[in-house]
This record gives sequence, structure tokens and C-alpha cells, in this order.
Amino acid sequence: MAGFDFKVLKTLGRVRLGVLETPHGGFETPIFMPVGTNANVKLMTPRDLEEAGARIILSNAFHLYLKPGLDVIKKHGGLHNFMAWNRSILTDSGGFQVFSLKIKKIDENGVVVKSPIDGSDVFINPEVSMEIQKTLGSDIVMAFDQCSDPSATYEETKEAMERTFKWAKKSRELISKPQALFGIVQGGIFEDLRRKSTEQITSIDFEGYAIGGLSVGEPRDITLKMTDVVTRLLPEEKPRYFMGAGSPELILELVSLGVDMFDSVFPTRVARHGVALTYNGKLNLRAAKYRYDTRPIDESCKCYTCKTFTRSYIHHLLSKKEVLGQILLTIHNINFMIDFMKKLRRSIMEEKFEKFKESFLKSYGGIAS
Ligand SMILES: [Zn+2]
Repeated sequence: MAGFDFKVLKTLGRVRLGVLETPHGGFETPIFMPVGTNANVKLMTPRDLEEAGARIILSNAFHLYLKPGLDVIKKHGGLHNFMAWNRSILTDSGGFQVFSLKIKKIDENGVVVKSPIDGSDVFINPEVSMEIQKTLGSDIVMAFDQCSDPSATYEETKEAMERTFKWAKKSRELISKPQALFGIVQGGIFEDLRRKSTEQITSIDFEGYAIGGLSVGEPRDITLKMTDVVTRLLPEEKPRYFMGAGSPELILELVSLGVDMFDSVFPTRVARHGVALTYNGKLNLRAAKYRYDTRPIDESCKCYTCKTFTRSYIHHLLSKKEVLGQILLTIHNINFMIDFMKKLRRSIMEEKFEKFKESFLKSYGGIAS
């Protein structure tokens, strides 16, 4: 079984085309990772993911630790077997989940949060997070970090950044081959802290570097400015992962700044709200105008949904609140994201990325017929 490896195959200015290998197979970058928080990508079987061309998914250490619990995962010999997904898995460390829950206590030793399941106290720190991710057997492990809110003060953000550095060193001591470990840059919306955090995190030899704490509610120009500051300082030869970006528009901007990896619940979440993503824009299939529309969602899409069903049928399922409507849209949206990334990579290979970006934004931003 091959270990972790990353190579940049081609660059166009700051835009990169790369290839990443993990013990569960390889893929080209830039790549989109569907999110499977509770050991499943909502409404998709691993067979659906396989057919869509997914090569790596993201799951979540904190959620799986609470449920089903590590004893159940151990009984299956790891997360790959538990969820019957034999390709690559990246797991988030719990840092972001802690940030989105109510923190009861935080200090150098770790964090206590209220369990979203039963309200009990849950303690997590780098040791616990690395132990969880070892048990899961993730191909890519994320260091345990402290994400700061964009509304946090400079002092609060700095404190979280220093703690993130300490915890990154601790995480590194605990994870070794064949698992890869990515460090996470924090620093909130402050340019000098982002720079400092990048220096701190890149002083540790990680297999890859992630940009955390962005796309969490701050204005878009700040997201891009902070990413720009960070990617200029990251080592060229290691993969860069922007955590939690999934809209095609944002992915294009971040690829322009030299980012290689993306994840988001965006395509699966909007599918559950009746929205299909297409190259001609978003379609809200709940709208009455689709009642008699016998075309597929997208004529050019090769997914099972588009090859088999009409817009009218999906509209009907959604209006009757049948789960199948959401399933068919999820299948289409994941296929769309993976196809979009494939076209994006091809445009880098053919040295036409800027043209691709411009024409995509023009047609995607329009109103689909
Ligand atoms: Zn489709």
C-alpha cells in the first residue's frame, strides 16, 4: 500500500495542478471533497459516490467520537470498513466543531464543551483528537486547533493562534506514517496574525497545510485577502487545503490564489432544499414552472438523475416531500461538483484557466432557463 505523497504537476502563475496519493488511492488536485459528517455523505451511498467519481471524502472526528463511539469503530477495524468506503478519507479534528458549540472551559490543556447529543460535558484536546483519528484510520488527519470567530478581538484571536501553535506541535508528536497530518493556520481576520500563524505552523513539518477559520461569516474580500497572505507564505511542495469552501465561485477565486483542496456541505445541503446546480446557474425545482418540464436537470450531465428523470418528476417528488426527490438532486449536485473540478483541472492543464473561470462565472451567475 502506497503512503502519502504530493507532487505539483503544473503551475500557471499561482494556480496549481497536482497529484496526491494516500494509502487508499490517489487523485489530482484541485479537488472537491464531499462532506460525510456522520460517516455518510447525506443521501448518498458509497456506490453513488463512486459513480460520481468521488475519490476522497471528509468526515468528522468529534461527531464520530460522540456517536457511534470509538468502540464501535474499533470493532469494524476503522472508519473505511465501518462506512464501506474504500477510498481516501480526511477527518476534521474537532477544532471547528468546538468553535461552533458552546465552550464551557478552555485552557492550555484542552476544551470542555456541552455534548450536542445529551448535554453532558465532553473534553477534547490534541491527545484525544489524535487518538480518535488514529482509531478512525483516516488517511489525512487534521491537527487540533482553536478556530476564532471573525468578531473576536485582536487579543482573543492572538491567544487562539498561540494555542493552535502549541496544539499543532502536540498533534505532530502523536501522528506518524502511514497517516498524514495537516497543520491548520489560524489568525482570524488580522493580516499580521495570519502571517505569524503561517510562520508558526510551517515551522513544523506537516504533510500539508490548511487554512482554517475563514468563510465563517466574514466579508468575501477579507476571505480572499487572508488567503492571499497565507498562500504566499506556504511551501510550494505541500498541498494547501482551504477548510469549508464549496461554492464554485469561491473555489475558482481560491484556486487563483494557489489552493488545492476544498470541502463543503454546500452541494448536498442545497439539494435537500430543492436546488440543482448547473453550468447555467441554479435551478429551484420546487418552482411551479417545472410542473410540465420534461427535460432533464441538465442535458449535458451524465449522472443517473439526468439520464433517467425529468424536472417535472423531481418537482413532483419535492412537492410531495418524498425523500427520493432530495436523493436525486444530491446525486446530481455531487456529480456536478466533481465534473466542475475535472473541467477546472483540464483548463489548468491546457493553460486556459482564466478563460474557464471567466466563462463559468458568466453562465453560472446567470438565471438558468
Ligand atoms: Zn445530473
